[in-house]
Amino acid sequence: MATIFTKIINGEIPSYKIAEDDNFYAFLDINPLAKGHSLVVPKKEVDYLFDLDDDTLGGLHVFAKKIAKAIEKSVPCKRIGTTVIGLEVPHAHLHLIPINGITDMNFERPKLKLNENEFKELLEQIRTNL
Ligand code: AMP
Repeated sequence: MATIFTKIINGEIPSYKIAEDDNFYAFLDINPLAKGHSLVVPKKEVDYLFDLDDDTLGGLHVFAKKIAKAIEKSVPCKRIGTTVIGLEVPHAHLHLIPINGITDMNFERPKLKLNENEFKELLEQIRTNL
């Protein structure tokens, strides 16, 4: 069965899409740790990041770089932290999270509740800064 991320990539489920190309897709995380928390995924459906072929693994990071730079310009933060968890959705992805300190990367912290307007404004800003 297709993962939720494949359904998002195929447009069967809505997402706050930042950008896509032939191989990769970036969108806002719906339960963000911080404003601008985003996910970058390969369109190829592979569960575990380190099972990706080298070109896809490398390309994912190059694609993530321009997304991270755009988030960094859009949200006040020291830098963009990146992490890989993948325990919830079995489709390889990078988390890109605006951070000011190490505790901002703690996934046990309560997630932000953003409304649709807040997500849309954030998305607009990030897209403008791409
Ligand atoms: P993990 O697989 O543990 O890295 O976590 C999956 C991440 O995907 C979580 O941060 C979720 O909030 C996020 N997520 C799950 N479903 C969606 C969705 N439909 N749209 C955006 N983000 C999602």
